Amino acid sequence: MKIVEDNYRHKGLRQQMVNQLRADGITDERVLAAINEVPRHVFLDSSFVEYAYSDQPFSIGSGQTISQPSTVAAQTSLLSIGSGMKVLEIGTGSGYQACVLSAMGAKVFSIERQRNLYLRTKELLGQLHYRVKTFLGDGYEGLPSYKPFDRIIITAGAPYIPPKLIDQLKPNGIMVIPMDRPSGEGQVMVRLTKLPDGTLSREEFGDFKFVPMLTGTASD
Ligand code: SAH
Repeated sequence: MKIVEDNYRHKGLRQQMVNQLRADGITDERVLAAINEVPRHVFLDSSFVEYAYSDQPFSIGSGQTISQPSTVAAQTSLLSIGSGMKVLEIGTGSGYQACVLSAMGAKVFSIERQRNLYLRTKELLGQLHYRVKTFLGDGYEGLPSYKPFDRIIITAGAPYIPPKLIDQLKPNGIMVIPMDRPSGEGQVMVRLTKLPDGTLSREEFGDFKFVPMLTGTASD
């Protein structure tokens, strides 16, 4: 069991990180307030606590990473979260992004394909007060029994738009998905809006680097 401590030093470092994100062009104050609230150091292995509030990704085991704060801020801003929205996240990982969404008032459903990460994060989330329901499964399948979702966020590099996830998105719903560059070099951030007639409008928001979105589940 992990001790969840959030002291003045942590809070001070977090405030500095938020100021830096604002200086770097994140303008949505609701997103910044959520990032200011969620204790990111709790989601990292203890040896990384010193670095929790610098703008870097970190290993969370099993070859996976917690997204860097600027990426979390960018993806969360693109989602335009409203209080009470149902949000599906693909790639629970450390649980940090899910908690930022929950801190904005979203009801978060998050899928992870790696059993050990799923179990570890489920335990951690049990000690925090965020509204996040976690699932072990393949994100390409989504969660048909909980559909439809107002928002869907994918936090791994996707080779294509998963059709079942589009089916599970409400009309006027938004999906934010880092799509693999054909060159194999990183991802471009894509925002898809599902129009009332079912067609998708697509906008692009620059380059990012994510671990790959893989199929099936894994036990390592
Ligand atoms: N949102 C996470 C970042 C996770 S990194 C955080 O805030 O920490 C991406 C995660 O996606 C990894 O944990 C990886 O195991 C998971 N993943 C990759 N493909 C997946 C899939 N098809 N379904 C669910 N999770 C997947």
